[in-house]
Amino acid sequence: MIRELTLIFIFLFAFNFMSPIKSQHIISKSFYDTYDRYKESSLNDRRFKHSDILPIIEKMKSKKIFEIVKIGESLEEREINLIKIGNGSITVLAWSQMHGDESTATGALFDLLNFFSSDDEFNDFRKDLLNKVTLYFIPMLNPDGAERFTRRNALQIDLNRDALRLEFPESKALKNAHEMIKPVFGFNLHDQSTRYSAGISFKTATISFLTPPFNYEKEINDVRTKTMQVIVDIYNELNQYIPGHMAKYSDDFEPRAFGDNFIKWGTSSVLIESGGWKNDEEKQFIRKINFIALLTGFQTIANGYYESEDIQDYYNIPDNDKLIFDLLLRNLKIKFDNKFYTIDIGVNLDEFNTADKEDGYFKGFIEDIGDLSIYHGYKDIDCEGMEVIPGNTAPAILESENDLTPVQAVELLKQGHTFVRVKNLSKDASHTTLPINLISDDEMSGDIEVENDANFIIKQNGQIKYVILNGFLFNPRINGYSIKNGLIFR
Ligand SMILES: [Zn+2]
Repeated sequence: MIRELTLIFIFLFAFNFMSPIKSQHIISKSFYDTYDRYKESSLNDRRFKHSDILPIIEKMKSKKIFEIVKIGESLEEREINLIKIGNGSITVLAWSQMHGDESTATGALFDLLNFFSSDDEFNDFRKDLLNKVTLYFIPMLNPDGAERFTRRNALQIDLNRDALRLEFPESKALKNAHEMIKPVFGFNLHDQSTRYSAGISFKTATISFLTPPFNYEKEINDVRTKTMQVIVDIYNELNQYIPGHMAKYSDDFEPRAFGDNFIKWGTSSVLIESGGWKNDEEKQFIRKINFIALLTGFQTIANGYYESEDIQDYYNIPDNDKLIFDLLLRNLKIKFDNKFYTIDIGVNLDEFNTADKEDGYFKGFIEDIGDLSIYHGYKDIDCEGMEVIPGNTAPAILESENDLTPVQAVELLKQGHTFVRVKNLSKDASHTTLPINLISDDEMSGDIEVENDANFIIKQNGQIKYVILNGFLFNPRINGYSIKNGLIFR
């Protein structure tokens, strides 16, 4: 008996001794559960501007934990700030919104600032982390682009092609920050198309990673290896929240891009691209995932957990593929010369800025027709037994847009009309908030052709089952509609 107990004791002792498997020390679930506490509530959609983040930065200046310095100004003289947190020996630089319309991670950086300046049960965690790493954040590197909600800066320059020439002040600010900090690790934070899928799966690539190459041969050195290992830890951790919804971004070498040059300059820089997530148009859930991804990255960097990861696990992450439509309608019948053929229709919605850049509107178009069975849709409908026909023009002619209420527009949709004639259309508007398209005198029909605007009717046994209005799906049997806008054709 004593011998058995001794054996058990030895076994337990040995097990205890061996058990610290490094990656298991990463904490994320408790941050995931308490995230709302830290979410910067003054930012709650994608379209915020420099003037929205300045008061937050001003507020942060009063907190002793942060050192905030202005590191430059944009072409239009909007200040670019660098925020320092911690005093550890391992330096980490994270920058966001180099592309002005890619704002998801900027929100997450401010959430992290709230996290680091909070006083709660994670105090020990923060203290330990910030003794090991020093974090530097540059939220919104391209404020002029954010002002217009465009990728490029005020002179229409893609700053991510200016890492060699360093012609523009925003690029210089980032390069100077790099020279000043000489970060060991970097996080290069972007948004990608919401229509990427994780490999050949039907899952959206909600987060894509990349270890950028430093030459055309895509050679691997120590700097890249560490980047891959950090990504493996983030990937594994996020997999519990967005299982299968992650991929790798294209690793083609781009000599002019910052990510690639950071690697060249000796910084293990992780590219994180925020993609799409169903019913998360404003990407607030993906922002939370960024928050978790970065906190995970900081932990593995601070504690060296990544060192035990196998880079093969990085290569095993599926590549970005493009197998997602915004709307996919399967198995429709279409009539041609009195004969029916089966087709699928893939519809996508592209977003454009309104003239005042304050908001966005959508143009829905037919991306593809035919056998689309290898694809998936955010909205994905089997239309077996249904027929597709072009949308048509309502018989009435209105004097002005104001003569039509949304309720009346919905009634027209229910009758299969996707266009209504308006005599006095406003001169320059390109869209209407009415759930119908407005046209000048001539009649229009929504021909079912590739690249055409998506305005068509789906019928079953002679009844209208769905109306596709400017790419948006309308179901006449359900009250209300989710059509964001119609278009104006002249
Ligand atoms: Zn980008």
